[in-house]
Amino acid sequence: MDDGLRDRWLQEAQRRMARAGMRAGAARTTVVALLARDGQCLVSAQEITSRLAGGAAGSAASVYRALEDLHTLGLLHRVYDDDGIARFEIADPAGRHHHFVDEQTGAIEPFVDPRLEEAIAATGRRLGIELTGHEVTLRGRRR
Ligand SMILES: [Zn+2]
Repeated sequence: MDDGLRDRWLQEAQRRMARAGMRAGAARTTVVALLARDGQCLVSAQEITSRLAGGAAGSAASVYRALEDLHTLGLLHRVYDDDGIARFEIADPAGRHHHFVDEQTGAIEPFVDPRLEEAIAATGRRLGIELTGHEVTLRGRRR
């Protein structure tokens, strides 16, 4: 994810939070800053909390609330992993990407594939669906 996108996301996040009348609470501000800085794929509230350990964001519960607020504002994608844990990442409407989960290491890597996007759009048309979103997760191991 490029720096320009993260800068634009940060500005948009500040605009939407202000418009929604959300106070610039410590947890929310810190979480937004961390997401914009790292731009990492699919992080959990627990991972963010431990990355902020000793910082101003407070408990895992307040980090989770901040993530839910940002998801409600359309600023984050939320995906549940196999263990039912919510994972979040910056919503990226322009450069839509999907994920490869390496089952040997547990690493999550982003990928983009324009032909896959075309195929999904065509399937939506064929089924008479107005698509509002989709997620694709590939699982496996590196050859
Ligand atoms: Zn991602």
